[in-house]
Amino acid sequence: MPKPKDGSKSGVSTVVNKVLSYPGSFRKPEPRGPSRSSDPDVQNLENKLDDIGREPKPRRWDYMEPTGDKNKDHEKLRERWNEYIDENPERWSNAKRMPCVSAVWDRKSGRVYYDHNVHKRDKWNMNPDDLDPILRERYKKSLDRNGPFWQMQENQDWHGAPGTHSETRATNQAIKDARNDPGREPFMEDFMLHNGNPKTKNDMRCCGNCTQMCDGVHGSKAGWEAGGPGGHQVDNNWSSDFSV
Ligand SMILES: [Zn+2]
Repeated sequence: MPKPKDGSKSGVSTVVNKVLSYPGSFRKPEPRGPSRSSDPDVQNLENKLDDIGREPKPRRWDYMEPTGDKNKDHEKLRERWNEYIDENPERWSNAKRMPCVSAVWDRKSGRVYYDHNVHKRDKWNMNPDDLDPILRERYKKSLDRNGPFWQMQENQDWHGAPGTHSETRATNQAIKDARNDPGREPFMEDFMLHNGNPKTKNDMRCCGNCTQMCDGVHGSKAGWEAGGPGGHQVDNNWSSDFSV
């Protein structure tokens, strides 16, 4: 064995430490044992996360068991969104979370994601590399502003770049995580969204960008109707109905 050049006796321990702390190395967490939570949703979450070897996020609003009925599920999602707004666990300021906070539910895994809009100058700073491939493809189509794939509404520019709003950001995170679930190919239909104004708690429809970015996600077409220019127009009679 050649003499190590770093002056230590063998140099072995340095090498071992480096291997163990390498950030890309994966180690399944130790079994957690019985749940400390009495909340069945949290227990389910912990069990599922154990199964797939993820760090736990045992917060009540991060996980919900789907009922299988889309409209009942949307009611559950709206309730959970309300709890999240009241609790505000990330301590988002009103400036940060206005005018819209979204909850996106991955109804395959049960995970729920929340996000707010990107504001001010950053609303045009969309890096497509941050998007899941499904959303990246849609974003690229949106750049052809008069093309056949992206339907522009009056004043749509006001919303900034597609991908910078709460529901698309939360959907993006949900798809990315789903793609990391072993053996899973995510589909937009696996997800459900709810949008609301955190001050008034009124339901909100997706904007003209998000209804196209999140197309396929349950709730992405609420407040929109087929027909009209490009088959894509606001339903002015919408009464906060997210049913499908
Ligand atoms: Zn939007």
